[in-house]
Amino acid sequence: MPFPQDRPRRMRRNEALRSLVRETALAPDDLVWPLFVLPGKRVRNPVKSMPGVFQLSVDELVAEAQAGYEAGVRSVILFGIPEHKDEIGSGAYDENGIVPQAIRALKESVPGLIVMTDVCMCEYTDHGHCGILEPPRAGGPGQGLSVDNDATLPLLAKEAVAHAKAGADIVAPSDMMDGRVAAIRAALDAEDFGDVPILSYAAKFAGAFYGPFRDAAESAPREGPGVPKDRKGYQMDPGNWREALREVALDVAEGADMVMVKPAVPYLDIVRLIRDRFELPVAAYHVSGEYAMIKAAAERGWIDEARVVLETLLCCRRAGADLILTYYAKEAAGLLTGKRR
Ligand SMILES: [Zn+2]
Repeated sequence: MPFPQDRPRRMRRNEALRSLVRETALAPDDLVWPLFVLPGKRVRNPVKSMPGVFQLSVDELVAEAQAGYEAGVRSVILFGIPEHKDEIGSGAYDENGIVPQAIRALKESVPGLIVMTDVCMCEYTDHGHCGILEPPRAGGPGQGLSVDNDATLPLLAKEAVAHAKAGADIVAPSDMMDGRVAAIRAALDAEDFGDVPILSYAAKFAGAFYGPFRDAAESAPREGPGVPKDRKGYQMDPGNWREALREVALDVAEGADMVMVKPAVPYLDIVRLIRDRFELPVAAYHVSGEYAMIKAAAERGWIDEARVVLETLLCCRRAGADLILTYYAKEAAGLLTGKRR
């Protein structure tokens, strides 16, 4: 029996050798922490389906972001829950709305922190869709069951400008309307915010992994006449990879500075495809359902939470994600910095 000369195990004998040849690293500054902000003072509402995640008033948000910053988290992304919702999502582009208030407070209290904002309509519309709805049309099947893409674009642009005015470092449109990156880029440039980058949710798949988020952001589509029951009319079909490349190419052409794939783990093949074909930074969003599944298994003692979390995030990096949005950001940063000693 010939002795194999090529033995990968030689370099696995101890941690010093393993770390010498490790191909991918995970660091706290790769992580972006999604936070939910709502009106009020001293409010800290636990999100039932996401243990450890809260809806926070601005004062509590600042304290939370500060704690994250101390653990090593350098970036957050804000989701707003407004006082009032209406058909046209007017809370989304209110310059004194909940997200602009939160941005100003964070910029003042945690100056080193990168503040990103989610730009979308679904937290602000009473029907829970990511854009305004088309008026019902007479005749034909499915009439009126759609979001009005082009009528939504100026509202998203206004929202992005409102966030930039308050001091947002990066705006991140998540609505999946066609043409929104170009509309937002033009509006930002016209208002002298040419330096504010756009992180586009380029390949966002319609699916079941967002359930807990919709509890947290109170953004699930409502049932009602003329209201589409899900987001399949604008988000991507989970079976499509060529379409993901097309979506990314469009967003890049429109001026996106970074592109995102969402969810993360079930779609790591898409992350890898985009990494191989494009030069822009790629983000992966480890979404609420992915978080909730790890939490639930850990609560039952079925998995080692810390190890599963770090492995999951490392694998997102290996697939090609430069940055990862994750509800585990603070915990993971703590684990990583603790490890370094
Ligand atoms: Zn949305």
